[in-house]
Amino acid sequence: MKHVIVGNGVAGVTAARGIVRADPSAEVHIFGFEPYPYYRRPLLWEFIAGQIERHALYFRPLDWYAGRSIQLHLGARVTGLDPVGHRLDVEVSGGRPASARSVEYDRLLLATGGRPFVPPCEGVEKDGVFTLRTLDDALAIKAYARKASTAIVIGGGLLGLETARALRTTGLKVTVIEFFPHLLPRQLDAQGAEVLQSLLEAQGLKIVTGGKTEAVFGDGRAKGVRLQDRRVIAGEMVIFSTGIRSEVRLARAAGFEVNRGIVVNERLQTSADDIFAVGDAAEFEGRVYGIIPAAIEQARVAAASMVASGSAVYAGTLPTTTLKVAGAELTSVGESVAEAEDCEQLRRVDLAAGRYRKLVLRGGRIVGAISLNDRERARLITRLIEGGVDVSAYGNRLLDDDFDLKSLLHRNDSEEV
Ligand SMILES: Cc1cc2nc3c(=O)[nH]c(=O)nc-3n(C[C@H](O)[C@H](O)[C@H](O)COP(=O)(O)OP(=O)(O)OC[C@H]3O[C@@H](n4cnc5c(N)ncnc54)[C@H](O)[C@@H]3O)c2cc1C
Repeated sequence: MKHVIVGNGVAGVTAARGIVRADPSAEVHIFGFEPYPYYRRPLLWEFIAGQIERHALYFRPLDWYAGRSIQLHLGARVTGLDPVGHRLDVEVSGGRPASARSVEYDRLLLATGGRPFVPPCEGVEKDGVFTLRTLDDALAIKAYARKASTAIVIGGGLLGLETARALRTTGLKVTVIEFFPHLLPRQLDAQGAEVLQSLLEAQGLKIVTGGKTEAVFGDGRAKGVRLQDRRVIAGEMVIFSTGIRSEVRLARAAGFEVNRGIVVNERLQTSADDIFAVGDAAEFEGRVYGIIPAAIEQARVAAASMVASGSAVYAGTLPTTTLKVAGAELTSVGESVAEAEDCEQLRRVDLAAGRYRKLVLRGGRIVGAISLNDRERARLITRLIEGGVDVSAYGNRLLDDDFDLKSLLHRNDSEEV
């Protein structure tokens, strides 16, 4: 059986490993447009910050693929898909001149990921304007940052803040501009964001909230941005961190069901039986997760479905994000910003000590949480959410330092026995 995977990111690589493990006789090919073997995107920040060398990025070097008989084709862009003829068109840019070829498959996995989305804004074609998704982007940002002393990051989400922190580490003066009234609008409520903002400011970042960027100004080269309310912020580099869009072009052109992402069922199957999709490219039950844990879980299920060995099904991923700032660790789990009427919110804020705790309960069970500087607690709460443990008897005591969350897990375990 010939399995072809489009995309050499975490989803594609995890699926390839799953396939060869389940069926050592399988022929597995990965086609990846980027010229590098698999590297970890979260390490790009440390690379930009100058904390690690380039070789440390490569989590799966070439011999990893060779050792598992996974055939890797780098610099190879899949440009067309014929689901009836079971064929792909591939353009290889590595050789000179670039060559095109046709590749057959028995089972196909689309692990094409996502690409940065830049909202309409004047002047984004200027030198010094960037997005960060790939190693090439990181190399370009790093090279430009050497000649700059100020930078602007548009977008105060997780990726934007980490990018800002990385540039700050190199000594640049960095301003973050967030469109919403507070930082991390997808993971934090206003009070939690206030605590986070003061930590970031203490680290030397400048934060502007409620700012809509209208234009990048400068004569050919970026010199700063102008906001809709006419405020002007100077910066020699501008990095847009304003979300991603699933890479769905192949699937759409081939006539599959595509919404925000490529629509898949619980076996990660697209609307074509022998074609699967995973990771940032895929949409499951109306959701594109855009996070590594979801890409990995989906890839494992897809691999099992592709070798047809298992009855594995995907049931969704509990979204968890952790941000490390100023030596602090902020974790947001599940429905952490849910404000629905059927949800109860429990909060404890200590701005001076840089502490924040929040739990969101529905029907007596925790469905979301935010915690700052409390890794062990965040881990326990995640388990309580996953286990659907009834905590209705405890109310605000759940937020106390001396409340034993672990005992709730044990109680739940013994109830199940
Ligand atoms: C800087 C950064 C830091 C991040 N940090 C975190 C983090 O800490 N935690 C977290 O959960 N998530 C993080 N993310 C998000 C995470 O990286 C993504 O969720 C993850 O990479 C998705 O994996 P994927 O394999 O679906 O897609 P990708 O990693 O995007 O891989 C897809 C690959 O497919 C290739 N491709 C696309 N189309 C074609 C084609 N037609 N032909 C050939 N190849 C093609 C692309 O070139 C790409 O290399 C981060 C992202 C970035 C950019």
